[in-house]
Amino acid sequence: MAEKVVSGDEVVVVSGKNKGQRGRVRTNLIKRDRVVIEGVNIVRRHMKQGRARQAGIVEMEAPLHVSNVMLWCANHNGPARVGFREGPGGIKERYCKQCDATIPAPRRGRDARNERDA
Ligand SMILES: [Zn+2]
Repeated sequence: MAEKVVSGDEVVVVSGKNKGQRGRVRTNLIKRDRVVIEGVNIVRRHMKQGRARQAGIVEMEAPLHVSNVMLWCANHNGPARVGFREGPGGIKERYCKQCDATIPAPRRGRDARNERDA
């Protein structure tokens, strides 16, 4: 099954305490069905001193379950229910079931990644 949301996508949170917030997917924790979104679900963690890390309180983005986010459709400017279909040349493509627009995979950002072994 293809992933509906991948790293680099713009998504909107549709459930939970971060409802309504939008951001870009930084990491897709596929095996845990979770995504880390830039600037969303900030938590504070008290960290011990590590090899490459100072002790102290750090703020970081915690993962959200993918069922609580929806892909943002720039075409109709709203959350998209995602479908897959065969596009030109028989290549599978994502599309928005609301407005029928094709939603291409994002260009990968520098720190966008999928963690298949997470
Ligand atoms: Zn749409």
